Amino acid sequence: MHSELSRLVGAEHVLEAPAGSPYNHDAARRRGVEGRAEAVVLPGSAGEVAEVMRWCYSHDVPIVPRGGGTGMMGGAVAVQGGVVCSLERLRAVRELEPALWRIFPEAGVSTRHVQRLARENGLMFAPDPGAAEQSQIGGNVATNAGGPHALKYGVTGAWVSGLEVVVAPGELIELGGWIGKDVAGYDLKRLMIGSEGTLGVITAVRLRLLPAPEAAIALVVFLRTRAEGCAAIAEVFAAGMQPSVLDFLDGDTLEIVAGGYPGEVPAGAGFALICEVDGTRAEAETQREGLVDLLSPEALAMHEPSETDALWRWRDGVNGVVTAERGGKVSEDVVLPIERLAEGLEGLEEIATRHGLRSCAWGHGGDGNVHATVLVDPAREEELDEAEAVGEELFALVIALGGSVAGEHGVGWLKRGLLSSQWPARAVELHEQVKRVFDPKGLLNPGKKLARYPARSPVRTP
Ligand SMILES: Cc1cc2nc3c(=O)[nH]c(=O)nc-3n(C[C@H](O)[C@H](O)[C@H](O)COP(=O)(O)OP(=O)(O)OC[C@H]3O[C@@H](n4cnc5c(N)ncnc54)[C@H](O)[C@@H]3O)c2cc1C
Repeated sequence: MHSELSRLVGAEHVLEAPAGSPYNHDAARRRGVEGRAEAVVLPGSAGEVAEVMRWCYSHDVPIVPRGGGTGMMGGAVAVQGGVVCSLERLRAVRELEPALWRIFPEAGVSTRHVQRLARENGLMFAPDPGAAEQSQIGGNVATNAGGPHALKYGVTGAWVSGLEVVVAPGELIELGGWIGKDVAGYDLKRLMIGSEGTLGVITAVRLRLLPAPEAAIALVVFLRTRAEGCAAIAEVFAAGMQPSVLDFLDGDTLEIVAGGYPGEVPAGAGFALICEVDGTRAEAETQREGLVDLLSPEALAMHEPSETDALWRWRDGVNGVVTAERGGKVSEDVVLPIERLAEGLEGLEEIATRHGLRSCAWGHGGDGNVHATVLVDPAREEELDEAEAVGEELFALVIALGGSVAGEHGVGWLKRGLLSSQWPARAVELHEQVKRVFDPKGLLNPGKKLARYPARSPVRTP
């Protein structure tokens, strides 16, 4: 295998992947997901990606696309063996046209680099998933990543105008292009977005950009209880406001991360709303005043950080600080209808308490997107098992409340099979048929994003 792959991409770009290799892991490592890649290939061009897929397809070898490896669901990990195809060498920006508000990076360009190039040209790439230095634009498209600003600006897919992608058995094609509208066929580009490497390998992405807003103002609103916090989110919408961010942290999360907050967390705070409004300076000021007028009657305190960057650094660090609290955590990314958010959060606490674990939650409240978390000591297997059991109960609750088991982190390996509880049987069949059309041999990232899977347990890979 190595010598044949070496002929395609050069021997120095075919790596071994012994146990413990970073290529056998992503951010699901702490949950026991480990790959067993037979080789890691680093193609240097879209054409080489096509050749690698052609070789894999003709030799019945699984191919697992890999971006920055920041995914939380084990999606980029070769749990069933095969070749990991890392896009890290596809780092060219093929086009940047500020006057036309567009950029055409290859799949391996980091999310932060795209954001930076946009900003340097007075523009904005709105999606802002939390691991932007390491994640790649191809990985963002493959997971349809979100982030705080998805509330106003939508998730990554909303900004994809076209895709260059390698489809089975190894053909490079373009879907979409630089056109604003296109109903000439079924929307194959949208099918590829969020497909987590199970339908094809993305090699380059045509992205639309936006003029950067003149001003953005952040406001943190502290409330006493979860119920008041969720009601405040609903009030913002009812008042016809459109903040760019409406993130939340519940009381337990606040307690853990309060120390690093760039300001003071008031005693008795049981919920915090991180709001951001943007537009022209005048528009942002007007929206800020509107939010203050609307929310001050219930608020315990409001804080307008003078340093927005410090606020966002703190917000980005929540995941790590919560993990450090007990050395480990199991977080489930779920979505609830806004009007059921409080019920979902209460349910999480009730379920976790019953399993003897402490829970906390934060996320993108305006989207109903919750990172529902239980804290664990990773050295205690029984706690990890209880945490996974909490997740299973939580998924059932979320589905019963009309929500979704996956908001922005994807399905990957860890959430395989859950879709069959959420979707009608016929829709699940159609989902599986789509997969077979794109990947008749089942070699593209096998085991991932499966709608049905008879045994969800054990989570940890054998
Ligand atoms: C600290 C932290 C914070 C995060 N915050 C957010 C957040 O706010 N919002 C959010 O949505 N996510 C968040 N994530 C999750 C993750 O960063 C995103 O899902 C990101 O989009 C993954 O990109 P990646 O390049 O690391 O992909 P990987 O982890 O490498 O891969 C993810 C999936 O995409 C597939 N894939 C990768 N590249 C390609 C390609 N070129 N073609 C086809 N398939 C491909 C892989 O096979 C895998 O299934 C966070 C993760 C961390 C660790």
